[in-house]
Amino acid sequence: MCKKIYLLRGTPVAFFRSLFLLVFGGICFITMTLPGTAAAQQDVARTMEALRREPLTETHERQKQRLIAAYPDFLTQSDYYPNAVQWRDGTIMLFEDGRPKKNFETLLNYPDLQDQMAMRYTPGDSIIILPNHDPGRVRYEKFFKKMYGATEAEVRANLETVYWLPGSINQPLLVTTVNGVSEKLQALSDTLDTLLAFQKYLVKPAGTFNWRVIKDTHRLSAHSFGIAIDINVDFAHYWGWNQKQQGDYIGYHTDIPPEIFKIFEKYGFIWGGKWSHYDTMHFEYRPEMLPLHMIYLLQPHMPEPLPLRPLEVLPFLSTDVNPQYRESG
Ligand SMILES: [Zn+2]
Repeated sequence: MCKKIYLLRGTPVAFFRSLFLLVFGGICFITMTLPGTAAAQQDVARTMEALRREPLTETHERQKQRLIAAYPDFLTQSDYYPNAVQWRDGTIMLFEDGRPKKNFETLLNYPDLQDQMAMRYTPGDSIIILPNHDPGRVRYEKFFKKMYGATEAEVRANLETVYWLPGSINQPLLVTTVNGVSEKLQALSDTLDTLLAFQKYLVKPAGTFNWRVIKDTHRLSAHSFGIAIDINVDFAHYWGWNQKQQGDYIGYHTDIPPEIFKIFEKYGFIWGGKWSHYDTMHFEYRPEMLPLHMIYLLQPHMPEPLPLRPLEVLPFLSTDVNPQYRESG
């Protein structure tokens, strides 16, 4: 009898305790996972909506065409999505994410491919320095990681030795073979070898490949991808050094003769001396920043038309999005 009473009394207690734990646990689980799932669904929905956006403005369409023309080994037209570039492995990458960038820092930290193309780089003798006009300094990092390698080991696997100024110092430097960058740097180095009057700017190169973030940022330097070279630091001017010396004012100065940067440009390299945040020893392979006629001259052959694999759309993940926009939903 006693035992029976115990059972009669105990069972409901245990039952309600279990029920409580089950319901409470369930609520916790749903509360924790639902927003994540909803955010992920929202990301995919936003990506699809952005991909279907058409037509691109005429300016944006021209920028997209220049990007595709500059990287024929990797990129091709997307017949399905006007607001995208299609990689030859089938990946679709959004061109214009439709999010206005509130300020210059946001632009550098959260760009899309269109932002990368937006500022006009002027090749040749002209040096046009306007506030926050840094054509080529805006890089959509996923684009470079996919092309040159997403980790140090992946980038290293594509590196090759270039002999810098073989006629004088013949210094080995590591540069990527992707997009023929090493061949191009070797060819332009051979040309620079003949500029005897300018050797002092070119000897003692300050570095090529170096997997690192840009100082005081989370952004990878172009040196991480094996596409950049710094020439002699003794004749360099860098906005960051001057900023320290002169407070907020970034006094522009360069000693680099146009003969040097014009040769780099001919081979698809842009010069950091054409940025308002200038870095006059820095050059990087960025053919998409050059005018179309210069891009075409870089390509000795038209790439083989490769069979396209089925489309794979890269969702535009919340991690790409400026937190300001995430908060506003
Ligand atoms: Zn550099």
